[in-house]
Amino acid sequence: MTKALAFPVPTADFPEARDAAAPEAENKRVRDASSRIDTFARIDTWVFDLDNTLYPPGCDLWPRIDARITLFMGQLFGLDGMSSRALQKYYYQRYGTTLRGLMEEYGVSAEEFLRFAHDIDRSSLVPNPLLAAAISSLPGRKLVFTNGSRDHAELTAAALGLGGLFDAIFDIAEAGFVPKPAAENYARFFDKHEVDPARSVMFEDLARNLVIPHERGMTTVLVAPKPGQADHREPFERMSELVPPHIDFVVTELEAFLVEVGAARTRADGA
Ligand SMILES: [Mg+2]
Repeated sequence: MTKALAFPVPTADFPEARDAAAPEAENKRVRDASSRIDTFARIDTWVFDLDNTLYPPGCDLWPRIDARITLFMGQLFGLDGMSSRALQKYYYQRYGTTLRGLMEEYGVSAEEFLRFAHDIDRSSLVPNPLLAAAISSLPGRKLVFTNGSRDHAELTAAALGLGGLFDAIFDIAEAGFVPKPAAENYARFFDKHEVDPARSVMFEDLARNLVIPHERGMTTVLVAPKPGQADHREPFERMSELVPPHIDFVVTELEAFLVEVGAARTRADGA
């Protein structure tokens, strides 16, 4: 076990989680070593969110996308930056994505919006060979499940050195532009890729996007910023005190977590 891992919830380097579980010795999510292996021994489908999950929040990619959306809305409505931003965040909270709000209320073209929002400089992304090796060695299917576009996912994965590692990308267009965390989005995803939730795990940086996966029986892993790392989640998306019961694991270093899971799988498979 390496210190980078977050087995079990809570982690020593995730203060909100630590505070939450300290007095609860019977916390059901505190697992011993054997049950940790059991959790992942049955997994054959590994589902990854894209933004702020496959790349660290410390890089500036998400703020660039966020700023492009603000600019798009400013140009669309003739608003100043502050007004545009406030409206953007209202739609984001209410509809799951800003795009969904713009489509519902103004009939905005999704293609035009996505092209504009994802037209960003990705030079801050650097290849992550450790993550690539860890994902590559996982047994079973690897899927990207994003509220962004396929082009954005492919370009971002390539910049991270993860190109070609995923069996499929389920993007917002395939979701009919109904984003996570709406239940309809997950139903489409499960159906399209014949995902058996009981044999699947989902990695995601937003706790609210793990509610339905947990309800459906998936193992859930929240990928959280390290202490002191940039945190681009909106205030309403951050956990205030407790790690919600729908989250099975909290990790701050996805690569190290996957390496440990892979090693556990190898031991279990060889036993
Ligand atoms: Mg994300």
